[in-house]
Amino acid sequence: MSILKAEGRKFPTQTQVLVIGAGACGTIAALAAKEHGAEVFIVERDAKPSGSTSLSSGQIPAAGTKLQRAAGLLDDTPDLLYKDILAKAHGECDHAIARLIADEAKNMIEWLVERQVPLTCVLNFQYPGHSRPHMHAAKSLDGAELHAALLAAVEREEIPLATSAHATDLYADADGRIRGVRVTRPDGKTEDIGCEALILACNGYGGSKEMLKRFIPEAAELFYEGHVGNQGDAVRWGEELGASLKDMGSFQGHGAMATPHGVHLNWATVTEGGFHVNVHGKRFSNENAGYSEQALKVHHQPGSVAWAIWDERADAIATQQASHVEAKEAGAVKRCDSVEAIARIVGCDAKALAQTFADIAAAVRGEKQDQFGRDFKGKRMLQPPYCVSKIAGALTHTQGGLEVNTEMRVLRKDGTPFPNLFAGGGAARGLSGPSDWGYLSGSGLMTATNMGRLAGIAAAKLVKG
Ligand SMILES: Cc1cc2nc3c(=O)[nH]c(=O)nc-3n(C[C@H](O)[C@H](O)[C@H](O)COP(=O)(O)OP(=O)(O)OC[C@H]3O[C@@H](n4cnc5c(N)ncnc54)[C@H](O)[C@@H]3O)c2cc1C
Repeated sequence: MSILKAEGRKFPTQTQVLVIGAGACGTIAALAAKEHGAEVFIVERDAKPSGSTSLSSGQIPAAGTKLQRAAGLLDDTPDLLYKDILAKAHGECDHAIARLIADEAKNMIEWLVERQVPLTCVLNFQYPGHSRPHMHAAKSLDGAELHAALLAAVEREEIPLATSAHATDLYADADGRIRGVRVTRPDGKTEDIGCEALILACNGYGGSKEMLKRFIPEAAELFYEGHVGNQGDAVRWGEELGASLKDMGSFQGHGAMATPHGVHLNWATVTEGGFHVNVHGKRFSNENAGYSEQALKVHHQPGSVAWAIWDERADAIATQQASHVEAKEAGAVKRCDSVEAIARIVGCDAKALAQTFADIAAAVRGEKQDQFGRDFKGKRMLQPPYCVSKIAGALTHTQGGLEVNTEMRVLRKDGTPFPNLFAGGGAARGLSGPSDWGYLSGSGLMTATNMGRLAGIAAAKLVKG
């Protein structure tokens, strides 16, 4: 994984725009570059592209879309989405990129619909920090469906996609101009491909324990639920080239991964009145602050586990999501008719758990403030039958990465852009600020899709002059 000298090298294969990674960011970047007249080539390390995109729930925030208006949601605006991004990140992200993405997101959704990506808006459930229901997804809430549609669009456009092609080295001039990429095949043979512009769409460093220990030691022990092939290659090359890296300690966690099944529950298990208790039957946090920051809070409980408790009404909403269905099919969700039955599953004192229920009921009635600052007032108290699942905290994806400008051009440490290097999605700095609390739900695919499209357009413009 290094930068090789390009000087004098002839490349047997040559393209205008080369894209590393065939997830949401890479496929969209390639489609956009082709649409803007460039010759494009994608290299992907896996034999069958998956990426975190296929593992995801495929939910993409956007505001003011035609889909929302057709469904009767008339008051969502890019301005609200922008404010939601900034509020969640406590203002500690790149405001210009946040503004651009919030404005572009609705065009992005419409662009995807035109390319036969099956999207609808998700109106019956609202994530923490979303002032309106911003999410758009395939009905299955399954990223694999989104990804399959993107790969089909790439195939329709006849964009070459080399699979089992692991980009291991970049060829660069002394000024950082990228001349080509070396890929290594599973049998160890290498091939060199020349390019006029390079887009890094190979996600972050969640799959690399070594990089996690270096940049986010507190997340290194969490179960990684993202794509293992995301080994931080973009950051490794960027460091060697002298690129600016930002928010490297930032990540998105998930505070309700059913364990030992390793698949996460839908967050309606919390937003619809559910809560988490530890082995003593006691709550330990404001679960509704967000699923990302809940991951470490769960991890810090005795045994690094907790139990999610919700009810059938919440479960009906949660069951829209493919991963939640998977958790149920794997036997991760138990049904209980009473608090005593839940206590038996948790292994805690039934009286302690009954007290937890009583405290929440008092907060719902407005008689008591929640000790963790969660707003239960006027919400619906859970009703039997209840649902229970043993959970652990997960690391979903890293949020730090290469700093880019509004054209998705990778920046040097002095703030000037490299001549022909672009990045997007998990390879670039996200919108989540420096830590685990700044991730607005859906920010992963929002950056992957929008940055991918913007990078593709800018790279095509560069090579077309
Ligand atoms: C369980 C789960 C649920 C999620 N749900 C959501 C959600 O509902 N909404 C949301 O916004 N986000 C969600 N996310 C996050 C979202 O999936 C990611 O932010 C997004 O998919 C990133 O897209 P990407 O294109 O940057 O990366 P990826 O989709 O991971 O694609 C990167 C590709 O690059 C390839 N690659 C890596 N290194 C190399 C190399 N050196 N050479 C060649 N190829 C390489 C990889 O194999 C991979 O195919 C979820 C993530 C997970 C794990």
